[in-house]
Amino acid sequence: MNFPYEESCATTRDRGITRRSFVKGTLATGALLSGMPALRAFVRTSPARAAEAGEAGEWLPANCQGCTSWCSKQVYVVNGRAVKVRGNPHSKVNGEASCPRAHLGLQQVYDPDRIKVPMKRTNPEKGRDQDPGFVPISWDEALDTIADRILELRENEETHKYALFRGRYTYMRGVLYKSMTRIIGSPNNISHSTLCAEGEKFGPYYTEGLWAYRQYDVENTRYMLLWGADPLAANRQVSYYSNAWGKALDRAKVAISEPRLSATAAKADEWLPVEPGYDGALAVAMAHVILTEGLWYRDFVGDFSDGKNRFVAGETVDEGQFEEKYTHGLVRWWNLELKDKTPEWAAEKSGVSAEQIRRVAKEFAQSAPHVLSWVGGGPSMQVRSAYACMACHALNGLTGGVDNVGGSLKANTVYLQDFPDYSDYLDKTAKKGKDHEKIDQRGRLEYPCLKKGKSGGGVNTNRAADAINDEDPYEIKVAMGYMNNFNFSAPQGQRWDQALAKIPFLVHITTNASEFSWFADIVLPDTHHQFEKWGYTKSHGNTYRHVVLQQPIVDKPFEYKIDETEVPFLIGKKLAEKGFDKLHRYHVETFRDPETGKAPENESEFAEYALKIATEPLWNPAKWKGGDKINGWEEFKRIGVWNSDPYPFRERWGNMATETGQFEFYSETLKHALEKHAKKHGTTVDRVLEVCKYQARGERGFVPHSEDPYVHGDSEEYPFVFVDHKARLNREGRTANCSWYYELKDLDPGERQNADVAKINPADAKKLGLEDGDSVKIASPTGEISCTARLWEGVRPGTVAKCYGQGHWAYGRLAAKVFGRQHRGGNNNYIIPADYDRLSGGSAYYGTVRVRIDKV
Ligand code: SF4
Repeated sequence: MNFPYEESCATTRDRGITRRSFVKGTLATGALLSGMPALRAFVRTSPARAAEAGEAGEWLPANCQGCTSWCSKQVYVVNGRAVKVRGNPHSKVNGEASCPRAHLGLQQVYDPDRIKVPMKRTNPEKGRDQDPGFVPISWDEALDTIADRILELRENEETHKYALFRGRYTYMRGVLYKSMTRIIGSPNNISHSTLCAEGEKFGPYYTEGLWAYRQYDVENTRYMLLWGADPLAANRQVSYYSNAWGKALDRAKVAISEPRLSATAAKADEWLPVEPGYDGALAVAMAHVILTEGLWYRDFVGDFSDGKNRFVAGETVDEGQFEEKYTHGLVRWWNLELKDKTPEWAAEKSGVSAEQIRRVAKEFAQSAPHVLSWVGGGPSMQVRSAYACMACHALNGLTGGVDNVGGSLKANTVYLQDFPDYSDYLDKTAKKGKDHEKIDQRGRLEYPCLKKGKSGGGVNTNRAADAINDEDPYEIKVAMGYMNNFNFSAPQGQRWDQALAKIPFLVHITTNASEFSWFADIVLPDTHHQFEKWGYTKSHGNTYRHVVLQQPIVDKPFEYKIDETEVPFLIGKKLAEKGFDKLHRYHVETFRDPETGKAPENESEFAEYALKIATEPLWNPAKWKGGDKINGWEEFKRIGVWNSDPYPFRERWGNMATETGQFEFYSETLKHALEKHAKKHGTTVDRVLEVCKYQARGERGFVPHSEDPYVHGDSEEYPFVFVDHKARLNREGRTANCSWYYELKDLDPGERQNADVAKINPADAKKLGLEDGDSVKIASPTGEISCTARLWEGVRPGTVAKCYGQGHWAYGRLAAKVFGRQHRGGNNNYIIPADYDRLSGGSAYYGTVRVRIDKV
């Protein structure tokens, strides 16, 4: 495959740094490792060719984390080398299905730019313009240095100044993320979750008590109504949905609210090209239609006691006249919000015609109860999106699609075990340190982060950058990150550059030297999740849940160590050598092999024993509680996946985890949470809503409702609303060093091969004097990026859409135009300001900023 890719766009800053100097350590290490097997890069053969050549290959089980679908896979391995990937037929979630980006894992694992050995920084100065000057060191030296810095914090009783930043994780996370952080003595285990799609859990939680991603029964549904979700490209279970979608389309209608013609919109029956930020307006107008037309699902919602529909536009209703069954507060919702929210009202705000709103609402409700309202990140990761998320999800309640055949479902039950309790290994210093306020300021008045009803219950990831910069509540002196890249992936990532430069000692565990690594003092080479790691994930789809094993199935030519288990074991051992043995004792005294009772003698044994402990009820027949029956650890490793029991439909009707046990249209659960948060700060709920930028006051703050979007940037200076989106080949931003990512970019509607394009409506382009292929700058109040104009009718006028994923200035020789110096493409996050949906804690990515487009 030739790869003469064009450099279509870049924001450049010449700093006189070469990639050669950054990675000189890595290259030099090749000579140090002459005793190790040679790296056999890239795919050399297919299974068929391997067979012809007489090479013995076998399909081995694996787990893909290229996105959060977390599919069960099989990998064809020939002589210790992975050559092909396919779905694992043993999985009841994804089966043999595979998405297109599954195959890019092969380019990732054999990426010649991977970090191969530990490296240390030689330049004490830190900044974007400072070459770190990394040189190779041994694992022993790296661990020695890390242990010294941790012990220094402990000696000075400053253990709270340690932070652990988590990126892509498995469910082995507790070892590094939680117990090691607490035993050191810090409260600061900071996950990436609110940079992901955490905001979309808010609606389900404050209506049906479900703080979780949902699964959707697409094979039995009759109508799918999607909100900013693109399951054929980016939303959960992409492999399964890509496979099942054709059959689903034969049986069901699909409507999608989305400002851009996404992969899913291109195949839908109805595309509602909504003005960004007005999904909530559409949803409440649809609810209005469903009620005024008398189309709600009575077996779930109930009815007026005399059977006469009193939902008439503009008129209030007496609550005593309606008898609800499995819901709570329908009439109050109507009186507080819905009665005036006609399709005509919503059409004026959203740009979607009243006729289309009415038609979709009626057809959706007429298909009840086998319907689903599918809320993705689009309407949930905006500044005022909490209530829109509730409104879109509430349509599942009105139509009885919640927990029902063909509807919106929770995850099936799994049977796993917690890791051993670590509380006996916390000394006085640790106990004192862990009780400090967390560095991300969660739970403060202006950051309620109401995960599961608790003030400060959820992480506030992106805020940690400002907190570190401001030393509020304190400074961070030692930090460790793994498989994260916050200064690339977080809105206004430039703040993270400053924050990381400020941390005196930073460790990064990663496969590739990323923008985050640039500021590190020590870089540790990580394993690739799909081929080299012990771990497990759990996910749900197709009305099942599976637990998928990660196993080392290929030769590891270099000194990669597993981030979540091997690294903390080695750090614990090193700390013990230096006199602090709590962490090591926790590991060796409590993580015994469940089969033999043997204590782990090295990091590799520890990683496997920890995995056996966590998953034992799945593979040990004596502990079996449900789902697939697997006869022992060896069989589990051979199959690679455990499947749950089938979905228990309608089991939660009348038994939801809300304050009332019902599906709440008037959320007593949210009212309770907001009142607790207000009380904690000695103020009122209205004041909380005000400082958190919401428009609602009084009782409206407890019902799903429409709020106008909060968009940064003056409309005169910045006339276009920016639409960020994900793509089919994005493996969470980690495919930027894979050539196939660029060659196959046009798998997504409106995209171009080997380019990074801003998709602009031709009518807007004409006004700007732009032609297809012109170089443009996109500027917002927070930054500026450059890319190529793509004239395309798949974006609504007044908006500009651009895919996330390019704009790296590090990560590898393909990802950056000039490593360490020059971007390849533009990073959307440089122009998206750091703001939040403060009730959920979710970072705002969508409908959040206005931009200007200039031809260059
Ligand atoms: S990239 Fe996502 S959808 Fe595709 S195989 Fe991997 S986990 Fe599944």
